[in-house]
Amino acid sequence: MPEYDYDLFTIGAGSGGVRASRIAASHGAKVAVAEEHRVGGTCVIRGCVPKKLLVYGSHFAHDLQDAANYGWTIEGARFDWATMRDHVLGDVDRLESAYTNTLESNGVERFLERATITGPHTVRLASGREISAKYILVAVGAWPVMPAFEGSEHCITSNEVFHLPEFPRRVMIQGAGYIAMEFAGIFNALGAQVTVVNRSDVILRGYDESLRDRLLQATLAKGIEYRFNSPIEKVVKQADGSFEVTTKDHEPVPVDAVMIATGRQPKTDGLGLESAGIELGAKGEIPVDDYSKTACDSIYAVGDVTNRVQLTPIAIREGQAFADTVFGGKPATVDYKAIPSAVFSQPAIASVGLTEVQARQECSDVRIYSSDFRPMKNIYSDHVERGLYKMIVDNETGRILGLHMIGPEAPEILQAAAVAVKAGLTKDDFDATVALHPSMAEELVLMR
Ligand code: NDP
Repeated sequence: MPEYDYDLFTIGAGSGGVRASRIAASHGAKVAVAEEHRVGGTCVIRGCVPKKLLVYGSHFAHDLQDAANYGWTIEGARFDWATMRDHVLGDVDRLESAYTNTLESNGVERFLERATITGPHTVRLASGREISAKYILVAVGAWPVMPAFEGSEHCITSNEVFHLPEFPRRVMIQGAGYIAMEFAGIFNALGAQVTVVNRSDVILRGYDESLRDRLLQATLAKGIEYRFNSPIEKVVKQADGSFEVTTKDHEPVPVDAVMIATGRQPKTDGLGLESAGIELGAKGEIPVDDYSKTACDSIYAVGDVTNRVQLTPIAIREGQAFADTVFGGKPATVDYKAIPSAVFSQPAIASVGLTEVQARQECSDVRIYSSDFRPMKNIYSDHVERGLYKMIVDNETGRILGLHMIGPEAPEILQAAAVAVKAGLTKDDFDATVALHPSMAEELVLMR
């Protein structure tokens, strides 16, 4: 009789949990995974993937306007929310099946119910079944934070936004981070009146200031309104189903939907971690070491629940490193330096490495190169929307410390450039590369 039911029991079938389970199984482990919502997790079910599809869908609003300037006659063009929503949700179903098949084809057993930890080697399923495992991996992700105010029960988060029964004509979004700026762009492009409210006067804290300024100007020009230092105080539902929202120091505004995007916190409530002697960190996260091991030797945690870097590709790398370390005999850690990231706002932002402010704190001689240009793609656009690329260089060595871009296709372009930054290339290396003309990306090798 084996000592345990499984070699690995994973709680949470999101990006990190699925990768870890699949790789552990491929190393010969007997693996099971429990998932209380849907296989695929936040990124696939209610995050990156459906969001990106909405971004693509909303871009047609501008593209159709531009098309007229290129001689196309677009008669009777109109937008139908239900059609786009249902296509996007259909793709989510397809991906959920694909993730399920991946688990199945790797011999990973699935329990579609909640699991909680009852000890260093044991979990209990919602149905009451007790299961033992040599190792437990916690990959339960994070959940939207809902600040406390009167009427918060009327608000939606990124969990519900993909299922809206009707397209809201007037939207208020609280928060000015990734999710707020992405959905502000989507709703605005699709014709909604959008008001972004935040507790501070900053958008996209952590991104380079020049890009944030550029995005603020571009979105103001597109009609997005901002209320800074003005969090929501009260949401009152009206007889017609709309809402009246009062924010700090402002008159109430009527809206059709209120979306809260004020960060995501580790989903550790009621998980039973204390039964294994694991204490949570200040933000509810599970503290782990470089190998994703918790305070309990048999329990590991990866992804958003550890609150290291809340990005899908990081959860995947952590899951892979865990499985290789524990089941593959190849100890592996994740390198968190120079992680590229993007905000799919309109225009989009993409970034890798240090911002100008961070570089000046770390390096005594910083030189900034930039290119402020009108993308050819926008030449016939009604909005004069300029792109901005910014390179932060250590002037002594010439090494690139950071690269920051705002403009069409910035995330697509930055992914390739991030290889060069990660590899430690210099400004001279970029200068030595011949421009690919005409393209937006050529600005990368033409910065002054
Ligand atoms: P962010 O951390 O990006 O932004 C949170 C925003 O809410 C900030 O503007 C912050 O204000 C404000 N805020 C925070 N707490 C409160 C509060 N208690 N009351 C009022 N306002 C508050 O969180 P998001 O929810 O936008 O996204 C969550 C995470 O999901 C991101 O950190 C990111 O890692 C991930 N994500 C990544 C995406 C991508 O890679 N493209 C897309 C979407 C999400 P202030 O900064 O002024 O303090």
